[in-house]
Order: sequence, then C-alpha cells, then structure tokens
Amino acid sequence: MQDATVVSIEGARKSFGETVVLKDISLAVRKGEVVAVIGPSGGGKSTLLRCMTLLETLDGGTLSYGDLTVAENDAAGRTAYAGKAVQKEAKTRFGLVFQNFNLFPHYTVMKNITDAPIHVQKRPKEEVEAHARTLLSKMGLTGKEDMVPCELSGGQQQRVAIARALALNPDVLFFDEPTSALDPELTQEVLKVIRDLAAEHMTMVIVTHEMNFARDVADRIIFMEGGVIVEEGDARSLVNDPKHERTKAFLSRCT
Ligand code: ADP
Ligand code: MG
Repeated sequence: MQDATVVSIEGARKSFGETVVLKDISLAVRKGEVVAVIGPSGGGKSTLLRCMTLLETLDGGTLSYGDLTVAENDAAGRTAYAGKAVQKEAKTRFGLVFQNFNLFPHYTVMKNITDAPIHVQKRPKEEVEAHARTLLSKMGLTGKEDMVPCELSGGQQQRVAIARALALNPDVLFFDEPTSALDPELTQEVLKVIRDLAAEHMTMVIVTHEMNFARDVADRIIFMEGGVIVEEGDARSLVNDPKHERTKAFLSRCT
C-alpha cells in the first residue's frame, strides 16, 4: 500500500503586488518522506513553506493536511480557506523551524519547549516535561533545561527550536534554511540531529543550501527557481545527474 500523504499543496499561486512568486506549484509529501527544497535565493522557497504553514495565504490552489482540507479553489480558481477551527486543527499537524531559531528570549529552555504543549494543547505538565527531557536528551542538550537562549550557542539554540517543534508531536516538520545562520561546526551538529530524525522516518520538508546533506538525507529533492519547480526527483540522481540546464548551472555554482 502506498504511504499516506501527510501534506499536499496543488496548483499553488502567490503574488506580492506585481511580483509573481509562486506559479502553479504542486507538492505532496508522504508519511516518512524527507523532501529537500533547493534553489537560488528569491526563487520562492520560503514563500512556499509559508503558504504550506498558513503564514501566508495562497491566491490560487489547494492545501490539505491528511484528510483535512485547509484551502480549495472557488469557481473562479481563487483559493478559499476553511474556517478558523479547521485552520487551528491544521496548525497542530506541523512544526516549523526557522533560520533564526525564534526562541522566546526570556523563557528557559524547558519553558520554550513546554509552553505550547501545556497551554495550547492542554496536555498535563508532567507528561509534557518528561517528553521535553527525552527530546533534550536526543538533541544532546541534557542539563540545559534551566538556561535561557542567550546562554546557548547558535547550534544549541537551533536544537532547542527543533525540540520545541517536536514537542507538539507534529505529522511533519518544515525547516527553512535551519543552518544558514550558523558557522560550519555548529551547522554540523544541527544537521546531525536532522539526520537522526530522518533515520527515525520523521516526515520533513527542508529548505537548504547544504547540497551534500540534501543528497544524503533527503529521499527526494525539489529544485525551485523563479516560482516554479524546474526539476524534482530521487535525491542522489538529481544531485549526481541533473537533467535540466538550470539545475546543472545551480549545482555547479554550489559545489
Ligand atoms: P527564497 O526563499 O527562495 O529565497 P522567497 O520566497 O523568500 O524566496 O522570495 C521570493 C520572492 O518573493 C522574492 O522576490 C521576494 O522579494 C518576494 N517576497 C517574499 N516575501 C515577500 C513579501 N512579504 N512581500 C513582498 N515580496 C515578497
Ligand atoms: Mg528563503
């Protein structure tokens, strides 16, 4: 049986004023799949992630999380969103990790991770804290529970951000250039954590400039440029043997 689709966006269109940023993008991510999104700056990668995570609204196209239809096209082909309750439910199905960690600076590590599970998901404090300790241990951060973000390195802060996203038990994790604010050594410790999650078959969509990482960890790579998917395919084949001239040109600049 084919694995279930966790998130699917179809015919996505998005403009900012006169600037067309997404032109008919379709992407379906199956349970357990790791998809890397690569491409030059300005190609629409962040906008795609922001539309999939309801931080931006689509102009056209559909969005669903599993059986939950978040957005559909109306008769005129413009995106119509489901009501607040459906959107709220959809937001419980994914986690999002940004380039700049986005931790709450005045909260401890523990409170950063447990705040939403306790106050938004209304789960019992003891259970959530036990889960947080397990996640911190996986992230190599045992003993950092009572520290505040500024006492941690960038790599440690990003690992807290990943633990925070995982604490909500999402079906899929989105990463938008999770290591681009980090120096090479700290980059590796964050990539290792993501590799470990991939080995556990966590469903992930990762926008990244780390081509070796994308080739080794992703099942599938999407190459985006100018608001379209220029090429996509099996990660190794796409990196080792790109078909499209634009993909070749991009990869040759990257290595
Ligand atoms: P990428 O992540 O691939 O670098 P982005 O999705 O950030 O690309 O940006 C794609 C294009 O959309 C760029 O031309 C950018 O300037 C434009 N853009 C992104 N967000 C906004 C916004 N909020 N308002 C206006 N233009 C935007
Ligand atoms: Mg971006």
